[in-house]
Amino acid sequence: MVKQTKINQVILLILDDVKSSQFFELMEKGKLPHFASLAKNGISSKNCITSFPSVTFPCYPNIITGAYSGYYPEEGSGIPAYHWISRSDPPSKGKKPPFIRNYSIGSHIWKIGRDLGKNVKTIFEQAGEGNFFSSLNIVFRGSYFSPPQKFNTENVFKNIQNAYENPVKFFSEKEVPKITVGYVPKTDELLHERGFDHPEYINEILKCDEYLGNLINFLKSEGYYDSTAIGIISDHGNYKAERSYDLEPFFESKGLQPYDPKTGKGDFDANFGCVGSFNFPGNNWNHHPNIGQMEKFTSIGSEKSINLFDVLWEIPGIKLMYFRDDENTPEQGIIHIKRKNSRTGQISTASIEYKDMGKRMKTRYIIDEVDIFGYQNNEKVESLLDGEYYSIDQWLAKTYDIDFPMIIDQIPRFFTNPRSSDVLISTLGEYAFNYEHGKTMNEHLYSHDIALRKSMNVPFIIGGSGDIPNLESEYCKTTDMVPSLLYLLGIEPHKSVVGKNLFD
Ligand SMILES: [Zn+2]
Repeated sequence: MVKQTKINQVILLILDDVKSSQFFELMEKGKLPHFASLAKNGISSKNCITSFPSVTFPCYPNIITGAYSGYYPEEGSGIPAYHWISRSDPPSKGKKPPFIRNYSIGSHIWKIGRDLGKNVKTIFEQAGEGNFFSSLNIVFRGSYFSPPQKFNTENVFKNIQNAYENPVKFFSEKEVPKITVGYVPKTDELLHERGFDHPEYINEILKCDEYLGNLINFLKSEGYYDSTAIGIISDHGNYKAERSYDLEPFFESKGLQPYDPKTGKGDFDANFGCVGSFNFPGNNWNHHPNIGQMEKFTSIGSEKSINLFDVLWEIPGIKLMYFRDDENTPEQGIIHIKRKNSRTGQISTASIEYKDMGKRMKTRYIIDEVDIFGYQNNEKVESLLDGEYYSIDQWLAKTYDIDFPMIIDQIPRFFTNPRSSDVLISTLGEYAFNYEHGKTMNEHLYSHDIALRKSMNVPFIIGGSGDIPNLESEYCKTTDMVPSLLYLLGIEPHKSVVGKNLFD
């Protein structure tokens, strides 16, 4: 690819947990002047759709690679979720019970580079030669990882300035970094602990704008600004759940014991905000169960079998359920979907069928009786309900401004990953359980994870150099960021990239 611009450097800033509507409202009120100036002179989108589940993992690594979860031994990212169990990974001989990955644990977070697998590449790995800098960016494979001395937002920005001022401090070559990724985790922490409507959370976004202004001034004064593109994005949006609820007594009452990876014993493993990810043993914990095994499940210390699906429907507020068909292969298969009508208690069924899993995967949505996602009420989406298969960009184009954007594409990408769970359920934001591996962690109501628009829609901006085409993109997806930035540098993205170059 021949470079069409004079851009020599890109800086990508990922603000964790900022939803598009709130960000652009602040911008329109004049409270984010520096973000606004990037957007005004570059490309921006108010409808950028992230990955599902809308949780930091997989959403954040998907931004950095431009790809999605999939059957990672052959294609796609190895990270389907924030918590996962290493079933048959590698295909186990049953010696050691599978471990639970949980990125909240300090020692687990540094495994991200390995967990991604070899079939996807970070933006740094895609860019060939040059200096690559990660300012607190924890998905740093292929770059120099530099945590600022103090983990605050201001230092994430200052650290980037340091790398430009003094490259030899970090690199053997004295050039400024060709690609820099800065990551701001503080906004996510404040979202969960305070909320999107709390002054402290809002102020943190305003501070990002101020620090961005300082960075822009520095780049201008040193003569870098006109050869630099700055990307702004978030990994997911957020919402406030209606109520919290302690699930520990529920599982006890059902006689279900949480899985303990030390002993390899237990009936189930779960993590559950408003979206619940459930794992059950198949022939043993190294294997996923089939549907029959989940329908006739005998827990430890019981002789009577229970139907796990029935048990899950008894959890308060459950509205949606997803699970794999037994005959699925990495290339093609069926995901079963069920929805409970909260008024009548009636359960409707539908399914998603996928083929050609991977970059060119296509999916179709089969409605049995009731349209589970409310797509039929929408004139635009209706055209995709004709029983034909459609690509991710076709789903995106018709669903970007409604709830469940792109969900028909995203669900199969989750379930074809062998590390993903057996059953996903959702309260759609009614109940927040904050349950992780046997324990209720807290009573937080502010969260993210569901497939509603407020949790799936994030801001997208690329600005800076006057060479960046000035346009507003009606919609896009978070995986479009990396190929768009690489295009500005004249670099062809890796073949695993599902996102597309928005300047094309
Ligand atoms: Zn996040």
